[in-house]
Amino acid sequence: MITAIRDEKNRYRNLQNGQWVESRNDTYITIKSPIDDTVLGMVPAMSKEEVDMAIETAKKAQKQWRNVTTDEKAEILYRAADILLKYKEELAELMVREISKDRKSCYSEVERTADFIRFTADTGKNISGESIPGDSFPGGKNNKVSIVRREPLGVVLAISPFNYPVNLAASKIAPGLMAGNSIVLKPASQGCLCGLYLARAFQEAGVPAGVLNTVTGKGSEIGDYITTHKGIDFINFTGSTEVGAHISSITSMVPLLMELGGKDAAIVLEDADLELTASNIVAGGYSYSGQRCTAVKRILVVEEVADQLIEKILPKLEKLTMGNPLDRDVDIVPLISTNAADFVCELIADAKEKGAKLLFGGNREGNLIQPTLFDNVTTDMRLAWEEPFGPVLPIIRVKDKDEAIKLANESEYGLQSAVFTQNINNAFYVANKLEVGTVQVNNKTERGPDHFPFLGVKASGIGTQGIRYSIESMSRPKVTVINLSNN
Ligand code: NAP
Repeated sequence: MITAIRDEKNRYRNLQNGQWVESRNDTYITIKSPIDDTVLGMVPAMSKEEVDMAIETAKKAQKQWRNVTTDEKAEILYRAADILLKYKEELAELMVREISKDRKSCYSEVERTADFIRFTADTGKNISGESIPGDSFPGGKNNKVSIVRREPLGVVLAISPFNYPVNLAASKIAPGLMAGNSIVLKPASQGCLCGLYLARAFQEAGVPAGVLNTVTGKGSEIGDYITTHKGIDFINFTGSTEVGAHISSITSMVPLLMELGGKDAAIVLEDADLELTASNIVAGGYSYSGQRCTAVKRILVVEEVADQLIEKILPKLEKLTMGNPLDRDVDIVPLISTNAADFVCELIADAKEKGAKLLFGGNREGNLIQPTLFDNVTTDMRLAWEEPFGPVLPIIRVKDKDEAIKLANESEYGLQSAVFTQNINNAFYVANKLEVGTVQVNNKTERGPDHFPFLGVKASGIGTQGIRYSIESMSRPKVTVINLSNN
């Protein structure tokens, strides 16, 4: 399938009005593998005129797409899911190289995405409206009834991040389409080859010309132009808080759905099952080198059990595998860029300098950073607050659950938190007080199952995703009031 979206010189094309088109100004971005710097392909750095065409095309096509029956839309989505599975190997191989993720996780990302798309079709078919009688409001009369249906918003701009280039693009496209919108996908530059591949799967499944279009180019160059384009009716963004906050500061009157950064805490109470806790912390903190929005990013443990917890974590860190994901499935892979690795090392250096105790790791070879664990991290250290998006975790010792809650809530972020305890009362006590979108009891922080609501509060996001929630976010109620004269 990949040959349909690139030419013999390995220059990728964009999907515009149902055609795969080359760069019109012959300007390309070179996409290299973070694993070994090999060139994977070139993608058009689109000009403003090309962006205009993508958005105008989407605007026109949406007018027909909104009238396609729900059942037909669902059939297209089912086919897209089947196509993804059919080409799973090719897509997963591309993903391993493009974003340096281990093969097993790439396969499971494609499978999870196919499930997501199917479930979205099922859910879309089961969304119905309501009718509200007028006489339930004080003074209301029984001659009035409100019929509420949902209608699409128009053109949805979907901007996805590098770390789940298939899943986090599809989780915008599929609900957006099912709600009757057309989509302009702007994938992360590192990850855009996978994003274009995904678009090809939707096209092959029968998404009509113009209903899905892609825009490639560096966010820093064309991002402001696209996000403030008057043809865009809704922006669904996943990425860093920095870029999300920037978008929300420059846009006006366009609804936003944003999933942003996090500093998810694992709160460990005195009665936790420490074996289970340590397993979850290691899996949650270090898989894909910690490059997950919901990775465990700090451990807040009550002093009383801190040493025992560390004893359980350290052997598990020793077992983590590290290296080149092309060779074998490894837990720790080279980070997405040298800048990303430099940033993680800055946080490590700051923690060391301010007196944190290095328990494990701390070294770097190229962009591969050892799984790293610090104890005695204090609130003056950057590692206590900043999101490393790398394999480093701070342990902050606390005296009790209230101190843990206080520290957890002092973060600017509010994506998820986990609480480990065997006491149901303590679990609810902590969960009720945390300022986050989701609290996991006795499990690592993580997204999914994908029909659960997923949201971040404070600097972690705006709005709610999750299959039904995403369809609802990308549609609005349309109210028709029937006024009867003879009641
Ligand atoms: P990023 O640098 O913010 O980039 C995200 C997307 O925004 C990319 O497509 C990027 O394009 C684009 N972009 C950059 N500048 C833009 C601008 N001015 N206007 C419009 N778009 C612009 O994030 P990332 O490094 O890909 O992903 C890591 C971050 O995402 C972490 O902070 C992580 O926590 C967060 N994340 C959150 C969730 C969640 O659900 N909460 C899930 C995954 C990741 P280019 O690539 O071309 O720059």
